[in-house]
Amino acid sequence: MSTTVVGDAVETGLEMNMLPVVQDEPAVEDLDLETTVGDISAANPRMICRNVDVFYDHGAVHAIRDVSIDIGNEEVLAMIGPSGCGKSSFLRCLNRMNDTIEGCQVRGSIKLDNQEIYDNRLDVVPLRARIGMVFQKPNPFPKSIYENVAYGPRIHGLAANKSDLDGIVEKSLKRAALWDEVKDRLGQPGTGLSGGQQQRLCIARAISVQPEVILMDEPCSALDPIATAKVEELIYELRKRFTIVIVTHSMQQAARVSQRTAYFHLGYLVEVNETNTVFTNPEHQLTESYITGRFG
Ligand code: ADP
Ligand code: MG
Repeated sequence: MSTTVVGDAVETGLEMNMLPVVQDEPAVEDLDLETTVGDISAANPRMICRNVDVFYDHGAVHAIRDVSIDIGNEEVLAMIGPSGCGKSSFLRCLNRMNDTIEGCQVRGSIKLDNQEIYDNRLDVVPLRARIGMVFQKPNPFPKSIYENVAYGPRIHGLAANKSDLDGIVEKSLKRAALWDEVKDRLGQPGTGLSGGQQQRLCIARAISVQPEVILMDEPCSALDPIATAKVEELIYELRKRFTIVIVTHSMQQAARVSQRTAYFHLGYLVEVNETNTVFTNPEHQLTESYITGRFG
């Protein structure tokens, strides 16, 4: 333990003439990172992750350390933490996206509805339809708005005929809150839409194949505040049908859209709790330091 002076005027916004608060606060290097505090379990888990490790560069980089967490059915789980703490690495484990990175190894167990997703016999193509992904930068295909949404259902054989496919496209665009804005120009290129519309198109594309889980890696970081608000509203609505895991560097966003929040630090899952608890009454010193803006 070391005594640290906290609460200077800059950090806490206290008036300059107030005395600094002196309290015992353990140094970061003395804190226990290896035991996750809070509650890793979900009442009705859709995915169960146990003792997950991620290595890059054939073992030279240890990016995720012994992470265990459940992801509940029809919940939004937010993953927060300083840059480089492993949020994207962990998110990519959930649909085996790390498989595409040369020299990356994943260890541990990740189950979707009790099926081990790292089972060698499992085909990753249908897995990635069941666990869809939305990336930081909207990445529509260089095709029409219609084709962006129709592509997945067509290759996965979800439509019996053209009118079925039209129905799926319409339903997906409606669920992504984009239909009214694009219904008269479905033949135009997806890349011609605004950034916020493109991201909702990517969400429509993800939901068109009826995924069980949707992974989102900082989906609003390239969007302006109005487009961000629309996407956040959409995430809130989508939770009623899908399980969503969202990485965000915005604590306000995590607080607005999620029911549970996981705080990562240096590859460890430090704390996971109800979102409200994490932001108002965090259990771990590091979580508190992060949410009060002492680092990030
Ligand atoms: P976050 O998303 O929280 O910013 P990342 O998951 O991207 O963190 O990174 C976690 C750690 O893994 C970092 O140290 C980063 O440098 C390393 N890392 C991420 N991707 C790769 C990669 N493809 N090759 C090597 N190291 C990587
Ligand atoms: Mg990241």
